[in-house]
Amino acid sequence: MSDQPELLFIDGEWREANDGRRFEVEDPADGSVLARVADASEVDAADALDAAVAAQAGWARTAPRERGELLRAAYELIVERTDDLAMTMSLEMGKPLAEAAGEVAYGAEFFRWFAEEAVRIHGRFMSAPDGKSRLLTAKRPVGPCLFVTPWNFPLAMGSRKIGPAIAAGCTMVVKPAEQTPLTMLKLAALLDEVGVPQGVVNVVPTSDASGVVGSLMADDRLRKVSFTGSTEVGKILVRQSADHLQRVSMELGGNAPFVVFEDADVDAAVEGAMVAKMRNMGEACTAANRFLVHADVADRFAGALAERMGAMTVGRGQDDGVQVGPLIDADAVESVSQLVTDAVHDGARVVTGGTAPDGPGHFYPPTVLLDVPSGSQINEVEVFGPVAPITTFTSEDEAIAAANATPYGLVAYAWTRDLARTMRLQESLEAGMIGINTGLVSNPAAPFGGVKESGFGREGGFEGIEEYLDTTYVALPPG
Ligand code: ADP
Repeated sequence: MSDQPELLFIDGEWREANDGRRFEVEDPADGSVLARVADASEVDAADALDAAVAAQAGWARTAPRERGELLRAAYELIVERTDDLAMTMSLEMGKPLAEAAGEVAYGAEFFRWFAEEAVRIHGRFMSAPDGKSRLLTAKRPVGPCLFVTPWNFPLAMGSRKIGPAIAAGCTMVVKPAEQTPLTMLKLAALLDEVGVPQGVVNVVPTSDASGVVGSLMADDRLRKVSFTGSTEVGKILVRQSADHLQRVSMELGGNAPFVVFEDADVDAAVEGAMVAKMRNMGEACTAANRFLVHADVADRFAGALAERMGAMTVGRGQDDGVQVGPLIDADAVESVSQLVTDAVHDGARVVTGGTAPDGPGHFYPPTVLLDVPSGSQINEVEVFGPVAPITTFTSEDEAIAAANATPYGLVAYAWTRDLARTMRLQESLEAGMIGINTGLVSNPAAPFGGVKESGFGREGGFEGIEEYLDTTYVALPPG
């Protein structure tokens, strides 16, 4: 890793934590220490917010084109540095290099997209219906923001928030996940390099997430919190936001159904399943979590999927040909192992995989389970690992009811060649995003987000910038 920043980035400067503490970032493939990063305390967090608050008014006044061009320059520099960013990400998070490069491309696109949106922020002017007044609306930046991001997509989960915030004219404090702060520190250096003014983006890695985030949210100068992570932590943050009524965007957990109907192109469904399940080793909130497959095609689908998943190469993300890296930590392997053991106990059959290898490293093999009883725990919770549990159904109504039988509602995948059925699914599946005959829904031009306990707010698309804008209205006389 070249030139890895290891300090806090506050007000355009790199500095040690005020108490001099650091914490270790580990390589999940072998537990070795990659870096010792400055460990922000609540005092440092307050400094970061001070910087964001001080920069806010001036930043809000910059020309939209200026903000757009900074984003465009950042996009170009990220793309130019793809190899270095991908290597950093692969080392700290474990994902294969090719996937890490894919995330760099995806993450960079949010800067390109919002570079183009920065100059399209507008209000409206109209006559009131009774003709007695005129209405003028305008958009203004919501103010200093806090971004709390997860470890599974260390770059993209940040750039989806930083991009629109910069476009809208907001300043920000970013708290990356403690497992993966290195990519975000590199991104901060890169934004500084392209000329984002001091104080606009501040980054405070910490081993004390609840203390740092809690203290920032207790400050009424903070106006917005955008979080990507677990539903459990999201609920804590929504409660905390109540004290000062900060605006919140919540991208939380998922329990995506992947429904294969009897009329589906089964080979295409298997291809799609490989993407929806195995992207990021299954460590994605969009990951296909439950496979609901019509009984007529279940054996064929399971056999073909097991063959593909069983043939994948597991190993260090940086090694040639590796398709499946380690999971993030020992707890992740333990949790996935337990879900598989319980499913087998409930009557599921292991078609491939199913046993974690001995260490070092936090590896788990691609696993396919058939005949998983619908009530099994693995169907109830987010697996966050390379396991495909398959449950069968025999009617469309049964499939839709099963797909919706979860508190989550982020994404649903369905495979069918029937257009009328597609329309019924679009109307009845309880998910913020629906993939029809595709295993990939993420797209910077699309509104990413969930319903139910998967959260609220949208990232990307035309909608994404609205999370960072307040609407003001001016009443005018008829003239
Ligand atoms: P995961 O289980 O995938 O690690 P989390 O929701 O625990 O997901 O973590 C997502 C982000 O939330 C990380 O940046 C983490 O440091 C942060 N976080 C975890 N617990 C809290 C908390 N109590 N308050 C604020 N942030 C938290």
